[in-house]
Amino acid sequence: MNQSQPFIVFGAPQIEQDEIDEVVDSMRASWLGTGPKVARFEREFAAYKNVQPDHVAATNSCTAALHISMLAAGLKPGDEVITTALTFCATVNAIIHTGATPVLVDVEADSMNIDPHAVEAAITERTRAILPVHFAGRPSAMDALVAIARKHNLKLIEDCAHAIETEYHGKKAGTFGEFGCFSFYATKNITTGEGGMVVAQDEHDIARIKVLALHGMSKDAWHRFGDAGYKHYLVTEAGFKYNMMDIQAAIGIHQLERIEQNWCKRQTLWNRYQAAFSELPVTCPQEAENDTRHAYHLYTLLIDEARTGISRDAFLEHMTLSGIGVGVHYLSIPEHPYYQERYGWRAEDYPNAMRIGRQTVSLPLSAKLSDSEMYRVMDAVREFVRVAVK
Ligand SMILES: *Cc1c(COP(=O)(O)O)cnc(C)c1O
Repeated sequence: MNQSQPFIVFGAPQIEQDEIDEVVDSMRASWLGTGPKVARFEREFAAYKNVQPDHVAATNSCTAALHISMLAAGLKPGDEVITTALTFCATVNAIIHTGATPVLVDVEADSMNIDPHAVEAAITERTRAILPVHFAGRPSAMDALVAIARKHNLKLIEDCAHAIETEYHGKKAGTFGEFGCFSFYATKNITTGEGGMVVAQDEHDIARIKVLALHGMSKDAWHRFGDAGYKHYLVTEAGFKYNMMDIQAAIGIHQLERIEQNWCKRQTLWNRYQAAFSELPVTCPQEAENDTRHAYHLYTLLIDEARTGISRDAFLEHMTLSGIGVGVHYLSIPEHPYYQERYGWRAEDYPNAMRIGRQTVSLPLSAKLSDSEMYRVMDAVREFVRVAVK
């Protein structure tokens, strides 16, 4: 145990002076809520995704983005949405909040992404949508998923929380489906503290999403109180409070400026982990597939007790005691009591997701990680495995 060095926080955001100055500027301008900086962040994010500015809407989280995308997709109680058993709970909860029924399918063992064959097998006459997650930043098999969606006339909603930089066969993640939903949570590849974004193929869906994200009001507050004079608003439906603030967008604007630089840093780190751990009795992630771009959001090792000689949870403890923050992405969805009780799901029915969820550990992959911190992570992993195999 090494207490002389500071703890390496998992997923530490990299915040620089530009973000700090931009937030201060919002505060001095006394415009904190949704305003010009949100509009700018939307424009710049749209440009990054090669879509028109009226095809994106900023929200206060990816969970909110998923929820109102599914409402805009017309999902109703009784409808079924097929998603992956290996994801963050928010993916499934957002389906539940629309009133629709989540239907889980297993992941492929190597890619850890939703298995298109399992998706096709799960389709019923009530299926209305498929909700893939580009796990760890690796694109799902979009050719197959788009073909299934077309064939069965289903909506496709991409959970791009890990996948801001992801590309598949030359096309950007979030532009395959009717909707792509992004997260700017503190640990994500770019952050606004909390925040999200919807990219939609149809600009009418974005118009509806903007209404749903702000109380169901027909005009947003910036337009109401701006210098163009007071505008009456009309409530056209019972909406939500899901809008992004200018203070958040102030951070995001400068995070987006450094997106390529930080992606390169994480790619280097990811490759160096691959090289450092390839000889150890642990399972390293599969390399990025040809003609794709991995977003390198998570670097995950699988610790199989039968092979490594010690449990995943012992590994987590060892890393923490070595001063290194680690994560688990994720215990599979059917392991959680709420879903077991409500839907009768059993972890064993999704064997790949179950096994990954019980063996996986995410190592620090922040662009903020220094070389010396990277060596500390590598040493801690090697030391653990050396002791374990003895
Ligand atoms: C982080 C995450 C979300 C939720 O994002 P928020 O912005 O925190 O709401 C949804 N899905 C996945 C896969 C995530 O990792």
